[in-house]
Amino acid sequence: MNNYSEEKGYFGEFGGSFVPEQLQAVLERLDEAFLRFKNDPEFLQEYHYYLKEYVGRENPLTYAERLTKKLGGARIYLKREDLNHTGAHKINNVVGQILLAKKMGAARVIAETGAGQHGVATATACAMMNIDCTIYMGKEDVRRQELNVFRMELLGAEVVAVNQGGGRLKDAVDEALKDLVANYESTFYLIGSAVGPHPYPSIVHYFQSVISEESKRQILEKEGCLPDAVVACVGGGSNAIGAFSAYLEDKDVRLIGAEPVEAATLTQGKPAVLHGFNSLCLQDDEGNPLPTESIAAGLDYPGIGPEHSFLKISGRAEYVTVTKKEVLEAFQEISRTEGIIPALESAHAIAHVIKLAPSLQEDSIIIVNLSGRGDKDVAEVKRLLELNV
Ligand SMILES: *Cc1c(COP(=O)(O)O)cnc(C)c1O
Repeated sequence: MNNYSEEKGYFGEFGGSFVPEQLQAVLERLDEAFLRFKNDPEFLQEYHYYLKEYVGRENPLTYAERLTKKLGGARIYLKREDLNHTGAHKINNVVGQILLAKKMGAARVIAETGAGQHGVATATACAMMNIDCTIYMGKEDVRRQELNVFRMELLGAEVVAVNQGGGRLKDAVDEALKDLVANYESTFYLIGSAVGPHPYPSIVHYFQSVISEESKRQILEKEGCLPDAVVACVGGGSNAIGAFSAYLEDKDVRLIGAEPVEAATLTQGKPAVLHGFNSLCLQDDEGNPLPTESIAAGLDYPGIGPEHSFLKISGRAEYVTVTKKEVLEAFQEISRTEGIIPALESAHAIAHVIKLAPSLQEDSIIIVNLSGRGDKDVAEVKRLLELNV
């Protein structure tokens, strides 16, 4: 069902696990548990129970009638991940991994977060599933995201501000890994995107594939055929791999990932080992990761999940870039025509659809993954529009 490669977690040349020995042992134990539970009927039943009763799945595949008519080309459908509890796709993966943690007998979950979205999703589901939760966050991010810190604390999580290093996301990852190695018997490290050493990219693929399993069933019901294209935004790659996965074998379905031009990992990256796995990465001449600067916090990452690097190199998926200006226009356009304020991340996918749809026939179909809602972004968009960027 997915590209889960037999042994070592490689997608072509990409992926793998480049970590110290102690951590390798922890990852192997995780891999064994994942392989055992991914096909366990009881586990799956529980996972789908929480998706339905807590997350609110299945969510709709909404026909964007006004946007379609306005653009005058392909019929556009929106996969409504914005309607999930907590307002984005991240919760699908979080619920799955916490369930796995409990099956493995873990007493606590740890995670790192940058802007706070993954931390809030993790703290949310940990509260519901009654498991101890610690979130590592760089001190700079703690300062900038004080409301998200408060949310996590309301949900009962402990937020640890990381002062080491530069106090950024990378330093939070390092501290979380230290915690994991010291407490591996009781602790589960929950990764929020399709990145990291094996087996994380495959685990996240697995738990996000519910997006395209639903959308495929829904489009067949509504249109009686598969879409011509599926479009999703790409940060680390989890909503995109979830939106693509059920169509990977359907070679006539174009799979398109949209990146910010300021963080165009797949368009401009080169192979490198970063954060324990081999993938494409934006780097300088000396091979150091380049800083990125997207208006969407969730896309602000110089690396990318290894499966996307493979899909790009093998030609199965296409990756395009969109500019800040196009994203802000798309954000406003879909707000006005469809009454949906999208996350800035999702507006990257919409921005590409606005270019793509008019070039396609009227009987073609595009599914765009609306990865999240935009409430978190309205203040920032107001500021950007006033600056007239
Ligand atoms: C975090 C986030 C993303 C980016 O992460 P991926 O792993 O690439 O999906 C995209 N959209 C929303 C709404 C997010 O919260």
